[in-house]
Amino acid sequence: MDQTIKKGGISVQTEHIFPVIKKWLYSEKDIFLREIVSNACDAVTKLKRLASLGQYDAGDETYRVDVILDKTAKTLTVSDNGIGMTAEELDRYICQIALSGALEFVEKYEGENKNNGIIGHFGLGFYSSFMVSDTVELVTKSYTGTDAVRWVCTADGNYEASAAERDGHGTTVIMHISDEEASYLEKYKIEEILEKYCAFMPVEIYFTAEDDGDEKDEKKDEKEPEAEKPVNDTTPLWQKNPSDCTPEEYKEFYRKVFHDYREPLFWIHVNADYPLNFRGILYFPKITNEYESIEGQVKLYYNQVFVADNIKEVIPEYLLMLKGVLDCPELPLNVSRSYLQNNTYVSKVSAHIVKKVADKLNSLCNVSREEYEKVWNDIRTFVEYACMRDRKFYDRVKDSLLLELTDGKFVTTADYLTTAKETHENTVYYTSDKAAQAQYVSMFEAQGMQVAVFERQLDTQFLSMIESYNADVKYVRIDADVAGALKSDEAAAEDKVLSDLFVKVSGNEKLKVAFTALKDSGVPVLLTISEESRRMEEMMKMYAMSGMNMGGAFPLDATLTVNTASPLIQKLGTLQDEKQEKTAAYLYQLALLSQRKLTAEELQKFLQDSYAMLDLI
Ligand code: ADP
Repeated sequence: MDQTIKKGGISVQTEHIFPVIKKWLYSEKDIFLREIVSNACDAVTKLKRLASLGQYDAGDETYRVDVILDKTAKTLTVSDNGIGMTAEELDRYICQIALSGALEFVEKYEGENKNNGIIGHFGLGFYSSFMVSDTVELVTKSYTGTDAVRWVCTADGNYEASAAERDGHGTTVIMHISDEEASYLEKYKIEEILEKYCAFMPVEIYFTAEDDGDEKDEKKDEKEPEAEKPVNDTTPLWQKNPSDCTPEEYKEFYRKVFHDYREPLFWIHVNADYPLNFRGILYFPKITNEYESIEGQVKLYYNQVFVADNIKEVIPEYLLMLKGVLDCPELPLNVSRSYLQNNTYVSKVSAHIVKKVADKLNSLCNVSREEYEKVWNDIRTFVEYACMRDRKFYDRVKDSLLLELTDGKFVTTADYLTTAKETHENTVYYTSDKAAQAQYVSMFEAQGMQVAVFERQLDTQFLSMIESYNADVKYVRIDADVAGALKSDEAAAEDKVLSDLFVKVSGNEKLKVAFTALKDSGVPVLLTISEESRRMEEMMKMYAMSGMNMGGAFPLDATLTVNTASPLIQKLGTLQDEKQEKTAAYLYQLALLSQRKLTAEELQKFLQDSYAMLDLI
């Protein structure tokens, strides 16, 4: 038996942290492996630094970390050939500093709602191994050549240190997995955790699962032993200089990290030096349609150690629709989330990322316009949403917001307004449904007017928002003001008789009747609802859907535009009494039909009138 050189018991005060650590939130348990493997990487990094300072002769040593799973022995082992510890260091670092650190951590966050607590449970450290272990054994030998030490600690906090043997310097941590946590003896699970948390750690990590069956042994005999491959990439792309990275490398990295086999549209490599000092790559993913949930993923790293996904304290929530990686070695992660929310460093990082994203959109718009137009519809939902969430972002990108036209072309609002100057100043005409409003679209196009397409769910809110930001430009749906928007071919005379007739057949005393002369439109009458009135109605509908009663129908501000150049209208003027009224009523129904869906009652009346009409033939 080894000679016992130190034996101790953890004080009463500290003893209670073991049960607490043990029953730590299940979903966070995986982090124990990150903590132990990153300690191993740190130990190697420290030794490398000593070597680079000439304080250690490394010779041709190759550094590595091994993760070894032994299902039969029920152990998970992490071994490094790093700096190691002397017996005194072990006592100081593990029994004192690490323990008091873990204690502080547990005291601070035990009572907190786990989700609001600390991000990624950063800072729990070495003692997180007790989340899954009954006993943790550590064998370490310092690079200074002192004797190796074995330290064994059980889940009740009692430990024993003794002399040991170890081939070479470094540290081996053997975790004896408890029966309740037996899932950590599954190979796939360890692979999964390594991939999630350790994929970019800076020292090569090798994973071995000791074979636990005869069958596999046979197979192994037949095959050539596979070349050893580390599970991680020690120099992730974000650490490289952007000018040294090729598009192929960015795409490959994207595929590997996000398992998305659709190519990203474009990306932003952020490389902020002092004083912010953080790096990252943000990708704009390809979104096939508006309704596909846009669930981005922004992975946060701390010196190449994965911390957590989608940390909205660090970047604005709307940027979480993107996919990417951020490495922020200056982030104070072992603090609570509420602290991060008010931290000026964090808000500077966040503002820097927002600026980079806006700069990228502007440069695409100004420099690679063709490429930008190609992706516009893919990024549009994101951009609109971002503008709505953040006025500053809108101000940065407002000149790069494109309007898609009904003819498939794209223009900026400024370009649109320049073209429109002759006909309609400071108004953007748009359609919210190209098919349903086709009649209007062709009338506008016939007069050489550009019509923008805003067909998405988000668009109405987006338009209201940009109008509120800039009151000089109005957005008017093409069916809202036909008489005002389209140039009359000749002066159209007001006709009081027709005007009264249409008010009568519409059954709406408030109906306004306007006259215009549009020779080639082929349209006799058009019903238009003013922009404000329609938006108000849309809002009411939204409230109604959300169960809010707004007290009855909203009186719509409707105008019937009568085209005096239409032969049908000219004929209508010559008809008498009942025939004139019936024809007017029918025309009104047609106008209604091209404006919106008929109600059940209206449809019934329309069908009856149509049959009666056919009877005349
Ligand atoms: P932290 O890594 O945040 O300092 P830990 O509780 O994980 O906290 O570890 C405490 C200390 O124990 C480390 O700072 C280090 O000095 C020492 N240590 C832990 N693991 C190793 C290792 N594999 N090799 C050498 N020293 C280690």
